[in-house]
Amino acid sequence: MARLVLWDIDGTLLHGGETAAAVFDRALEAVLGVRPSSRPSMSGKTDPQILLDYLDLLGLDPAGVDLEAVLARLADELAAAQAQLRAGGRVLPGVREALATLAARPGWHQSVLTGNLARNARLKLETFGLLPFVDLEIGAFGSDRPRRTALLPVALDRLRRRHGVVLDPSAVWVIGDTPFDLAVARAHGARALLVGTGRFPPAVLAALGPDAVRCDLRDTEGLLELLAT
Ligand SMILES: [Mg+2]
Repeated sequence: MARLVLWDIDGTLLHGGETAAAVFDRALEAVLGVRPSSRPSMSGKTDPQILLDYLDLLGLDPAGVDLEAVLARLADELAAAQAQLRAGGRVLPGVREALATLAARPGWHQSVLTGNLARNARLKLETFGLLPFVDLEIGAFGSDRPRRTALLPVALDRLRRRHGVVLDPSAVWVIGDTPFDLAVARAHGARALLVGTGRFPPAVLAALGPDAVRCDLRDTEGLLELLAT
């Protein structure tokens, strides 16, 4: 049976380390001339949302800020910091095997549903050698919609346009590390697997009542079995 598996990136597939967060500070400083002294919580948010949270911390009115310029600079800063990203980040346990196994599964489609801008999603996956396993053409990104819950229909629509595949949301799995990933699945009748490799411990995630929770993604066989149900 067909499946669409949509992976979150940060905290689920990989940790980007300090660089992934620091590029926001640099982008803001470059475009607005102010260096933030603190950072908003970033887990599970889209990059446009994180930017608005930063502006709030800085006491700046978004109406007076060229948001697109900051986001474009964010992507430039991450690209420029690729070597540091590679050095300070890592792929999470079991991820490479899981992605390779799912990619080889006939009739299954695998991509990302992420708050990252599309450029940054590609760069992060490429930096850690994960790009060959995912079909980015059918992914959904923070640059598509600022609200994460609006991203699942974007991926389904791209699957239909690119591959002529129409899937019921019940054939879609969202895999992520935050309550926001669960909310995306819930909003559309998809299923959610939450993993405790980000900021939220497995017990906290389990209490939210997702379809499944894992401490990490090391059990590839168990993962396949779960996603096939
Ligand atoms: Mg995440």
